[in-house]
Amino acid sequence: MEAQNCEVLYRFFRTASEYLEGYRRAEPYPETFYPLSIGGTPSHAEAGAVLLAEFPVESTEEPCFETITAVYDDISRCNACSLARTRKNTVAGEGPEELSGISDAVDVMVIGEAPGADEDRLGHPFVGRAGQLLDKMLAAIQLSRTKNCYITNVVKCRPPNNRDPKPEECAGCADFLEAQIRLIKPKMILSTGRVATQHLLQTTDGIGKLRGRFFDYNGIPLMPIYHPSALLRNENLKRPAWEDLKRFRDRLLHVRNGN
Ligand code: URA
Repeated sequence: MEAQNCEVLYRFFRTASEYLEGYRRAEPYPETFYPLSIGGTPSHAEAGAVLLAEFPVESTEEPCFETITAVYDDISRCNACSLARTRKNTVAGEGPEELSGISDAVDVMVIGEAPGADEDRLGHPFVGRAGQLLDKMLAAIQLSRTKNCYITNVVKCRPPNNRDPKPEECAGCADFLEAQIRLIKPKMILSTGRVATQHLLQTTDGIGKLRGRFFDYNGIPLMPIYHPSALLRNENLKRPAWEDLKRFRDRLLHVRNGN
């Protein structure tokens, strides 16, 4: 922490303690308060630094992950919400093998809502029935999780009984997802289903209204599509889903060519 900030904190603590003591404090601060090695009267900044060491202030800064491995490590240790108590595995995300470094192998990031039972058991995203359909949908537009596509979810642990993740659970995982997007740098994003889309676009509009349109997510074109589980439940959604995927593919071809 910079000396100037230490000084501001020191003044704050001093004013607070003076207020609590009714501005009656006459004695000097206890000696242990000051760094012993410093001769003479310590500056406010030096005293502030010692105070901070004795009363650490929780940082309000967001974690800044520098590698995807660091994101995965934090996800695997996360106990921030109650989903940590019921999960079998965290499900961070997966993409082309060479992603262990930061590469530009990834054209598209697919973002779902949260792991289900199969994903929880195996620790990989979209590996159940919906995941198998997703793989087919991606293959139809020449995308694959082993070559050019990274797959993850807004929430990294399974909500019990396959309920929708709560907004606070989505918010609790937001730093992870933001770091994944920042480090992986996809050219485009496909967001699958209502829950993921509403979180990413911070909207309450329904998926029927949002699907197939392009939105800007921090400079990255994002298209919401129907969730593959919705297509498994309702065959009639397959035709519009295919139309959306074709529009997505056409835009991706332009983006790849730098347009
Ligand atoms: N549904 C999702 O949204 N994500 C998964 O990983 C699996 C099913």
